[in-house]
Amino acid sequence: MSDDAPPLLEVRDLVVRFDVVTPGGPWGRRRTLTAVDGVHVSVRRGETLGLVGESGCGKSTTGRAVLQLEKPSAGEVIFDGRPIHEWWVQRWGGWRWDHRLRDLRRRMQMIFQDPSASLDPRMTVEAILAEPLRNFALASGSERRGRVQRLLEIVGLDPRFIRRYPHQFSGGQRQRIGIARALALEPDLIVADEPTSGLDVSIQAQIVNLLGRLQQELGLTMMFIAHDLATVRHVSDRIAVMHLGRIVELAAADRIVTAPLHPYTQALVAAVPVPDPIRERARPRLVLAGEPPSPLDPPAGCPFHTRCPVREERCRRESPPLRTVAAGHEVACHLVD
Ligand code: SF4
Repeated sequence: MSDDAPPLLEVRDLVVRFDVVTPGGPWGRRRTLTAVDGVHVSVRRGETLGLVGESGCGKSTTGRAVLQLEKPSAGEVIFDGRPIHEWWVQRWGGWRWDHRLRDLRRRMQMIFQDPSASLDPRMTVEAILAEPLRNFALASGSERRGRVQRLLEIVGLDPRFIRRYPHQFSGGQRQRIGIARALALEPDLIVADEPTSGLDVSIQAQIVNLLGRLQQELGLTMMFIAHDLATVRHVSDRIAVMHLGRIVELAAADRIVTAPLHPYTQALVAAVPVPDPIRERARPRLVLAGEPPSPLDPPAGCPFHTRCPVREERCRRESPPLRTVAAGHEVACHLVD
């Protein structure tokens, strides 16, 4: 796919706010939490975009808003040229998907963090994987069973396991079933939300390798969300680094890891262990002091200034916009030329 081709997904100035009640007064205090604050990013066909950042930085909410599992408060989500953020209707006292969004569900799928919670324990693997095929009337009878068996093969599970229940599998195998279910409808876009976080370290590598292989073999377009930069780097073509609801750096995965420009990205890179103990001991440390600020009460100026080791006076007053500093490399920092 050429770089000039229109992206499959365009996210423009996406904002997601939640009403929350915090302690205070007899009934608590109603406040607004801005989880995603002006995210602007695109994903080309066949590309994997990594979204990385600490817990609570808004990356999962961004993924959910892309799939319209969360209604955006502002901004646009353009999927295959169509403004899907507009495909909501107000009904029964709340916002619901309109019929176009329901149909589009087939083309956009999610891999969830916790495979145990996302798989119905009362259903066999066959029933779990056949359900989307039946819902969209894509196959029936022996053809449907054949497709289910093929899906199990694709994710590295024995097709003879078709009659087993989720509890009869290990955590890694359950995540493979979750991946097979996401693939069942042959979607154009998959959002993988922390797909390895709930797994043992040894199993994490297997799932990351599986996703990398599927991305190559099936030409998947994917948004891969994780808090661990080492994992994200392994599968991503480009990486967007998020902090407090905003993207602070976006570049090719290799560039993010070898030449990070934003101090926050530099801290994330410094936290990734190097396998060589001599190099690991010799390399400079960049440890961020203090806790991340609350999205309920973000600091004025640059949202990172309370922990930034190189902040200047103007960082307390002016919020740096995300700007292009080199071809394909965007950074939000006053100090980066
Ligand atoms: Fe640090 Fe200032 Fe850059 Fe923000 S704008 S990352 S506070 S140097």
